[in-house]
Amino acid sequence: MTQTLDTNNPSGPVTVGEIEVTIDRDACIGASACIPPADKTFTLDDDGKAVVMASASENNEADIIDAARACPVMAIKVTKNGQDMM
Ligand code: SF4
Repeated sequence: MTQTLDTNNPSGPVTVGEIEVTIDRDACIGASACIPPADKTFTLDDDGKAVVMASASENNEADIIDAARACPVMAIKVTKNGQDMM
């Protein structure tokens, strides 16, 4: 079982450095496109939904934004100081 950054909110919202990451679990189709750009941040759980891993800080902000942009259904929301980073 993958260790998630926040076990109570495995798909966020969670804070990684200066950004906040949230995955819309209803929108997520498990396409995994988010994983290659930020493979320390995103993985799929047993339900096939993306979750944020405890190792997320090993990816930088740009990697996580690239991952969010790669999502075909725009299920990943990234904000910084309340501003949308997408
Ligand atoms: S790319 Fe989007 S749809 Fe695919 S697993 Fe990641 S969040 Fe879910």
